[in-house]
Amino acid sequence: MNIAILSRNRELYSTRRLVEACQQRGHEVRVIDTLRCYMTIASQRPTIHYKGEKITGIDAVIPRIGASITFFGTAVVRQFEMMNVYCLNESVAISRSRDKLRSLQLLARRGIGLPVTGFAHSTQYTKDLINQAGGAPLVVKLLEGTQGIGVVLADTQKAAESIIEAFRGLKAQILVQEFIKEAGGADIRCLVIGDKVVASMQRQGGEGEFRSNIHRGGKASAARLTPEERSTAVRSAKIMGLNVAGVDILRSNHGPVVMEVNSSPGLEAVEKSTGKDVAAAVVSFIEKKAKPGKTATRGKG
Ligand code: ADP
Repeated sequence: MNIAILSRNRELYSTRRLVEACQQRGHEVRVIDTLRCYMTIASQRPTIHYKGEKITGIDAVIPRIGASITFFGTAVVRQFEMMNVYCLNESVAISRSRDKLRSLQLLARRGIGLPVTGFAHSTQYTKDLINQAGGAPLVVKLLEGTQGIGVVLADTQKAAESIIEAFRGLKAQILVQEFIKEAGGADIRCLVIGDKVVASMQRQGGEGEFRSNIHRGGKASAARLTPEERSTAVRSAKIMGLNVAGVDILRSNHGPVVMEVNSSPGLEAVEKSTGKDVAAAVVSFIEKKAKPGKTATRGKG
Protein backbone atom coordinates (compact mmCIF):
# COMPACT_ATOMS: atom_id res chain seq x y z
CA MET A 1 0.00 0.00 0.00
CA ASN A 2 0.90 3.62 -0.36
CA ILE A 3 0.58 5.25 3.05
CA ALA A 4 0.97 8.93 3.96
CA ILE A 5 1.61 10.10 7.50
CA LEU A 6 0.46 13.65 8.18
CA SER A 7 2.96 14.95 10.70
CA ARG A 8 4.79 18.19 11.29
CA ASN A 9 8.03 16.47 12.17
CA ARG A 10 9.43 13.22 10.82
CA GLU A 11 11.90 13.01 13.70
CA LEU A 12 9.21 12.57 16.35
CA TYR A 13 9.25 9.15 17.99
CA SER A 14 5.67 8.32 16.98
CA THR A 15 6.21 9.38 13.38
CA ARG A 16 9.48 7.44 13.12
CA ARG A 17 7.90 4.31 14.55
CA LEU A 18 4.96 4.49 12.16
CA VAL A 19 7.33 4.91 9.21
CA GLU A 20 9.33 1.88 10.40
CA ALA A 21 6.21 -0.22 10.87
CA CYS A 22 4.95 0.64 7.36
CA GLN A 23 8.32 -0.24 5.82
CA GLN A 24 8.68 -3.47 7.80
CA ARG A 25 5.28 -4.56 6.56
CA GLY A 26 6.24 -3.85 2.94
CA HIS A 27 4.41 -0.58 2.31
CA GLU A 28 5.47 2.60 0.61
CA VAL A 29 5.35 5.41 3.12
CA ARG A 30 5.91 9.15 3.08
CA VAL A 31 5.69 11.79 5.75
CA ILE A 32 3.78 14.89 4.71
CA ASP A 33 4.14 18.07 6.73
CA THR A 34 0.50 19.00 7.31
CA LEU A 35 1.12 22.73 7.29
CA ARG A 36 2.85 22.60 3.91
CA CYS A 37 -0.19 21.13 2.18
CA TYR A 38 -2.44 23.38 0.20
CA MET A 39 -5.62 22.54 -1.58
CA THR A 40 -8.07 23.51 -4.18
CA ILE A 41 -11.64 23.19 -3.13
CA ALA A 42 -13.80 22.46 -6.13
CA SER A 43 -16.90 20.34 -6.51
CA GLN A 44 -15.09 18.12 -8.97
CA ARG A 45 -11.71 16.54 -8.47
CA PRO A 46 -10.62 18.01 -5.16
CA THR A 47 -6.82 18.03 -4.90
CA ILE A 48 -4.06 18.42 -2.38
CA HIS A 49 -0.71 19.88 -3.28
CA TYR A 50 2.52 19.57 -1.39
CA LYS A 51 5.72 21.47 -2.09
CA GLY A 52 4.59 22.25 -5.65
CA GLU A 53 3.47 18.71 -6.42
CA LYS A 54 -0.04 17.26 -6.67
CA ILE A 55 -0.48 14.36 -4.27
CA THR A 56 -1.85 11.24 -5.95
CA GLY A 57 -1.91 7.50 -5.47
CA ILE A 58 -2.28 7.46 -1.67
CA ASP A 59 -4.24 4.48 -0.28
CA ALA A 60 -4.34 5.51 3.36
CA VAL A 61 -3.56 8.49 5.55
CA ILE A 62 -2.41 8.38 9.17
CA PRO A 63 -3.26 11.79 10.60
CA ARG A 64 -1.03 12.97 13.47
CA ILE A 65 -2.60 16.35 14.03
CA GLY A 66 -1.23 18.35 16.96
CA ALA A 67 -3.71 20.32 19.05
CA SER A 68 -2.23 23.64 17.92
CA ILE A 69 -2.98 22.95 14.25
CA THR A 70 -6.40 21.31 14.60
CA PHE A 71 -8.15 23.83 12.35
CA PHE A 72 -5.90 23.51 9.30
CA GLY A 73 -5.00 19.88 10.01
CA THR A 74 -8.60 18.69 9.98
CA ALA A 75 -9.18 20.63 6.74
CA VAL A 76 -6.33 18.65 5.14
CA VAL A 77 -7.76 15.34 6.44
CA ARG A 78 -11.22 16.34 5.15
CA GLN A 79 -9.75 17.03 1.74
CA PHE A 80 -8.24 13.53 1.62
CA GLU A 81 -11.67 12.17 2.58
CA MET A 82 -13.23 14.13 -0.29
CA MET A 83 -10.65 12.48 -2.56
CA ASN A 84 -11.94 9.10 -1.33
CA VAL A 85 -8.69 8.31 0.47
CA TYR A 86 -9.04 6.19 3.61
CA CYS A 87 -8.10 8.20 6.72
CA LEU A 88 -7.29 6.25 9.86
CA ASN A 89 -9.07 8.82 12.02
CA GLU A 90 -11.65 10.96 10.29
CA SER A 91 -11.69 14.74 10.33
CA VAL A 92 -15.04 14.97 12.13
CA ALA A 93 -13.89 12.61 14.87
CA ILE A 94 -10.64 14.52 15.36
CA SER A 95 -12.50 17.84 15.68
CA ARG A 96 -14.98 16.27 18.07
CA SER A 97 -12.23 14.94 20.33
CA ARG A 98 -10.47 18.32 20.42
CA ASP A 99 -13.49 19.96 22.01
CA LYS A 100 -13.31 18.81 25.64
CA LEU A 101 -16.85 19.80 26.53
CA ARG A 102 -18.41 18.34 23.44
CA SER A 103 -16.51 15.09 24.07
CA LEU A 104 -17.71 14.89 27.67
CA GLN A 105 -21.28 15.58 26.60
CA LEU A 106 -21.17 12.85 23.95
CA LEU A 107 -19.67 10.35 26.41
CA ALA A 108 -22.19 11.28 29.13
CA ARG A 109 -25.08 10.77 26.75
CA ARG A 110 -23.95 7.19 26.23
CA GLY A 111 -23.54 6.45 29.91
CA ILE A 112 -19.72 6.51 30.16
CA GLY A 113 -18.49 7.24 33.70
CA LEU A 114 -17.07 10.77 33.99
CA PRO A 115 -15.93 13.05 36.79
CA VAL A 116 -18.81 15.42 37.59
CA THR A 117 -18.02 18.45 35.43
CA GLY A 118 -19.40 21.99 35.45
CA PHE A 119 -19.22 24.71 32.83
CA ALA A 120 -20.71 28.17 32.69
CA HIS A 121 -20.49 31.35 30.67
CA SER A 122 -21.77 33.78 33.26
CA THR A 123 -19.58 34.69 36.23
CA GLN A 124 -22.65 35.33 38.37
CA TYR A 125 -23.18 31.82 39.68
CA THR A 126 -19.62 30.67 40.39
CA LYS A 127 -20.43 29.52 43.94
CA ASP A 128 -23.30 27.38 42.77
CA LEU A 129 -21.22 25.99 39.91
CA ILE A 130 -18.61 24.91 42.45
CA ASN A 131 -21.31 23.29 44.59
CA GLN A 132 -22.78 21.50 41.58
CA ALA A 133 -19.38 19.91 40.92
CA GLY A 134 -19.29 18.68 44.52
CA GLY A 135 -17.48 21.61 46.18
CA ALA A 136 -13.79 21.85 47.08
CA PRO A 137 -11.34 20.25 46.57
CA LEU A 138 -12.00 20.83 42.92
CA VAL A 139 -10.07 20.69 39.66
CA VAL A 140 -10.22 23.76 37.42
CA LYS A 141 -9.15 23.24 33.80
CA LEU A 142 -8.48 25.51 30.90
CA LEU A 143 -10.52 24.23 27.97
CA GLU A 144 -7.62 24.80 25.62
CA GLY A 145 -4.90 23.32 27.84
CA THR A 146 -2.69 20.35 26.96
CA GLN A 147 0.01 18.35 28.75
CA GLY A 148 -1.41 19.30 32.12
CA ILE A 149 -0.80 23.01 31.69
CA GLY A 150 -3.81 24.93 32.95
CA VAL A 151 -5.02 22.11 35.21
CA VAL A 152 -5.20 23.41 38.78
CA LEU A 153 -6.29 21.82 42.03
CA ALA A 154 -8.26 24.17 44.28
CA ASP A 155 -8.16 22.88 47.86
CA THR A 156 -10.79 25.14 49.33
CA GLN A 157 -13.96 26.88 48.23
CA LYS A 158 -12.20 30.27 48.46
CA ALA A 159 -9.23 29.07 46.39
CA ALA A 160 -11.64 27.67 43.79
CA GLU A 161 -13.46 30.99 43.53
CA SER A 162 -10.20 32.95 43.15
CA ILE A 163 -8.78 30.61 40.52
CA ILE A 164 -11.99 30.72 38.51
CA GLU A 165 -12.05 34.51 38.77
CA ALA A 166 -8.42 34.76 37.67
CA PHE A 167 -8.95 32.55 34.61
CA ARG A 168 -12.15 34.38 33.73
CA GLY A 169 -10.32 37.70 34.06
CA LEU A 170 -7.97 36.45 31.35
CA LYS A 171 -11.02 35.62 29.22
CA ALA A 172 -10.13 31.94 29.33
CA GLN A 173 -12.77 29.24 28.98
CA ILE A 174 -12.63 26.81 31.87
CA LEU A 175 -14.41 23.83 33.29
CA VAL A 176 -14.61 22.71 36.90
CA GLN A 177 -14.41 19.08 37.81
CA GLU A 178 -14.86 16.78 40.76
CA PHE A 179 -11.40 15.93 42.13
CA ILE A 180 -10.83 12.17 42.02
CA LYS A 181 -8.56 12.04 45.05
CA GLU A 182 -8.50 8.27 45.27
CA ALA A 183 -6.73 8.12 41.87
CA GLY A 184 -3.65 9.09 43.90
CA GLY A 185 -2.05 11.23 41.20
CA ALA A 186 -2.19 8.39 38.69
CA ASP A 187 -4.17 7.81 35.53
CA ILE A 188 -4.43 5.04 32.97
CA ARG A 189 -3.79 5.59 29.28
CA CYS A 190 -5.51 2.99 27.13
CA LEU A 191 -4.34 2.75 23.56
CA VAL A 192 -7.37 1.66 21.55
CA ILE A 193 -7.20 0.40 17.99
CA GLY A 194 -10.53 -0.61 16.46
CA ASP A 195 -12.39 -2.58 19.11
CA LYS A 196 -9.35 -3.55 21.20
CA VAL A 197 -7.11 -2.02 23.83
CA VAL A 198 -3.69 -2.97 22.38
CA ALA A 199 -1.60 -1.49 25.22
CA SER A 200 -2.22 0.27 28.50
CA MET A 201 0.01 2.12 30.91
CA GLN A 202 -0.32 3.75 34.27
CA ARG A 203 1.17 7.21 34.65
CA GLN A 204 2.05 8.29 38.14
CA GLY A 205 2.71 11.92 38.95
CA GLY A 206 5.77 12.92 40.93
CA GLU A 207 5.73 13.37 44.72
CA GLY A 208 3.05 15.87 45.74
CA GLU A 209 1.75 16.24 42.17
CA PHE A 210 -1.83 15.27 41.31
CA ARG A 211 -1.18 15.52 37.58
CA SER A 212 0.30 12.40 36.02
CA ASN A 213 1.42 13.91 32.68
CA ILE A 214 4.78 12.60 31.50
CA HIS A 215 5.61 16.19 30.49
CA ARG A 216 5.14 17.16 34.15
CA GLY A 217 7.49 14.45 35.41
CA GLY A 218 5.02 11.55 35.54
CA LYS A 219 6.40 7.99 35.28
CA ALA A 220 4.87 5.33 33.07
CA SER A 221 4.54 1.62 33.73
CA ALA A 222 2.48 -1.15 32.13
CA ALA A 223 -1.04 -1.40 33.55
CA ARG A 224 -3.43 -4.33 33.84
CA LEU A 225 -6.96 -3.31 33.06
CA THR A 226 -10.17 -4.62 34.54
CA PRO A 227 -12.78 -5.79 32.03
CA GLU A 228 -14.83 -2.68 32.92
CA GLU A 229 -11.89 -0.37 32.17
CA ARG A 230 -11.25 -2.16 28.91
CA SER A 231 -14.82 -1.84 27.73
CA THR A 232 -15.03 1.79 28.89
CA ALA A 233 -11.97 2.63 26.78
CA VAL A 234 -13.20 0.82 23.68
CA ARG A 235 -16.71 2.28 23.96
CA SER A 236 -15.33 5.79 24.46
CA ALA A 237 -13.22 5.60 21.30
CA LYS A 238 -16.21 4.25 19.39
CA ILE A 239 -18.53 7.02 20.65
CA MET A 240 -15.99 9.60 19.49
CA GLY A 241 -15.78 7.84 16.12
CA LEU A 242 -12.02 7.26 16.45
CA ASN A 243 -10.35 4.10 15.11
CA VAL A 244 -7.18 4.93 17.02
CA ALA A 245 -7.41 6.72 20.35
CA GLY A 246 -5.65 7.26 23.64
CA VAL A 247 -8.34 7.07 26.29
CA ASP A 248 -7.36 8.55 29.67
CA ILE A 249 -9.11 7.01 32.64
CA LEU A 250 -9.02 7.73 36.38
CA ARG A 251 -9.69 4.92 38.84
CA SER A 252 -12.42 6.34 41.06
CA ASN A 253 -14.41 4.84 43.94
CA HIS A 254 -17.34 4.66 41.58
CA GLY A 255 -15.48 2.83 38.81
CA PRO A 256 -13.46 4.06 35.85
CA VAL A 257 -14.09 7.67 34.82
CA VAL A 258 -12.91 9.05 31.48
CA MET A 259 -11.02 12.33 31.46
CA GLU A 260 -10.15 12.65 27.82
CA VAL A 261 -10.05 10.85 24.49
CA ASN A 262 -7.00 11.69 22.39
CA SER A 263 -7.03 11.38 18.61
CA SER A 264 -3.24 11.46 18.07
CA PRO A 265 -1.91 9.53 21.06
CA GLY A 266 1.87 9.50 21.49
CA LEU A 267 3.52 6.10 21.08
CA GLU A 268 6.79 6.56 22.97
CA ALA A 269 5.73 6.15 26.59
CA VAL A 270 3.19 3.45 25.86
CA GLU A 271 5.54 1.36 23.69
CA LYS A 272 8.48 1.74 26.05
CA SER A 273 6.54 0.96 29.22
CA THR A 274 4.61 -2.00 27.81
CA GLY A 275 7.05 -3.42 25.23
CA LYS A 276 4.13 -3.61 22.76
CA ASP A 277 4.58 -2.78 19.09
CA VAL A 278 1.70 -0.32 18.83
CA ALA A 279 2.94 1.10 15.50
CA ALA A 280 2.70 -2.35 13.89
CA ALA A 281 -0.81 -2.77 15.30
CA VAL A 282 -1.82 0.56 13.72
CA VAL A 283 -0.48 -0.48 10.30
CA SER A 284 -2.04 -3.93 10.57
CA PHE A 285 -5.41 -2.28 11.28
CA ILE A 286 -5.01 -0.13 8.15
CA GLU A 287 -4.21 -3.23 6.09
CA LYS A 288 -7.52 -4.76 7.15
CA LYS A 289 -9.67 -1.65 6.85
CA ALA A 290 -8.32 0.70 4.22
CA LYS A 291 -10.41 0.71 1.08
CA PRO A 292 -11.02 3.68 -1.17
CA GLY A 293 -14.26 5.47 -0.46
CA LYS A 294 -14.67 3.75 2.92
CA THR A 295 -14.69 7.00 4.83
CA ALA A 296 -17.94 7.08 6.79
CA THR A 297 -18.47 10.82 6.69
CA ARG A 298 -16.57 11.74 3.48
CA GLY A 299 -15.79 15.04 5.07
CA LYS A 300 -19.41 15.75 5.95
CA GLY A 301 -20.23 17.61 9.12
P1 ADP B 1 -4.31 17.65 29.80
O1 ADP B 1 -5.25 17.35 28.67
O2 ADP B 1 -3.73 19.03 29.77
O3 ADP B 1 -3.30 16.56 30.02
P2 ADP B 1 -5.96 16.52 31.83
O4 ADP B 1 -7.38 16.88 31.94
O5 ADP B 1 -5.62 15.22 31.21
O6 ADP B 1 -5.20 17.70 31.10
O7 ADP B 1 -5.32 16.61 33.29
C1 ADP B 1 -3.93 16.43 33.54
C2 ADP B 1 -3.71 15.44 34.69
O8 ADP B 1 -4.31 15.91 35.89
C3 ADP B 1 -4.38 14.09 34.43
O9 ADP B 1 -3.52 13.22 33.70
C4 ADP B 1 -4.67 13.58 35.83
O10 ADP B 1 -3.55 12.92 36.37
C5 ADP B 1 -4.92 14.86 36.62
N1 ADP B 1 -6.36 15.14 36.70
C6 ADP B 1 -7.12 15.77 35.77
N2 ADP B 1 -8.40 15.85 36.14
C7 ADP B 1 -8.50 15.26 37.34
C8 ADP B 1 -9.59 15.03 38.25
N3 ADP B 1 -10.82 15.44 37.96
N4 ADP B 1 -9.30 14.39 39.42
C9 ADP B 1 -8.04 13.97 39.70
N5 ADP B 1 -6.98 14.16 38.89
C10 ADP B 1 -7.20 14.79 37.71
